[in-house]
Amino acid sequence: MTQKKKSPKAAGAAPKSPKKTGKFDKAAAARRVQEILPLLQKAYPNVGIALHFGNPLELLIATILSAQCTDARVNVVTKDLFKKYRSAADWAGAELQQIEQDIKSCGFYHNKAVSIRGAAQKILDEFRGKVPATMEELVTLPGVGRKTANCVLGNAYGRPAIMCDTHVIRLSRRLQLSANSDPVKLEFDLADIVPKPEWTLFCHRLIAHGRAVCKARKPDCPNCPIAKCCPAADNPNLW
Ligand code: SF4
Repeated sequence: MTQKKKSPKAAGAAPKSPKKTGKFDKAAAARRVQEILPLLQKAYPNVGIALHFGNPLELLIATILSAQCTDARVNVVTKDLFKKYRSAADWAGAELQQIEQDIKSCGFYHNKAVSIRGAAQKILDEFRGKVPATMEELVTLPGVGRKTANCVLGNAYGRPAIMCDTHVIRLSRRLQLSANSDPVKLEFDLADIVPKPEWTLFCHRLIAHGRAVCKARKPDCPNCPIAKCCPAADNPNLW
């Protein structure tokens, strides 16, 4: 006798996400953003970048150092570093091995040292020693991609910028704001549905929410201030 197959639902399988079914509703995502914005604003009124910096060059360096490293560790390292290297000329004129030694505890120190010195040299040669303030120019610097460029634009220059870090990627998918987890595609998806003046703070608030409540492994859905807007509430692995 052949046994009747159980349906996935009866077998307790998780329902398929729109990503898997190919049905992503951009209009609904835009409406969801409008609902989420005031809730996040209320929950996280005072947000900003955790990296310490005093000028655009310092933020650029700190952001390069923060790859695969905690912001807290970068802040410890840059406290002395920014007293030693005060300008693009200081970085460009330093020995690579010395920079490596100075940033060693941030990890990936060889690649980061090459990027920092290369970026400083280009800033000196082509931008008169000043970190450029446009995306087009910033991404021409060695070791600087859109994520780093957005970080500098949004936080050092006060321009609207979408920073797709790991928290923004995870939360955007759980909140079904995009079907993409590629940071560049996600950046353009969010740019379409988040009002431009809100870009930078919206990302900071998503990051704060990702750190405090919507954690990667164990999101606290019962205590989440935006749960009523979240398609993944109580089922965060759906996305
Ligand atoms: S309801 Fe849960 S999955 Fe949705 S944003 Fe809140 S914590 Fe994250």
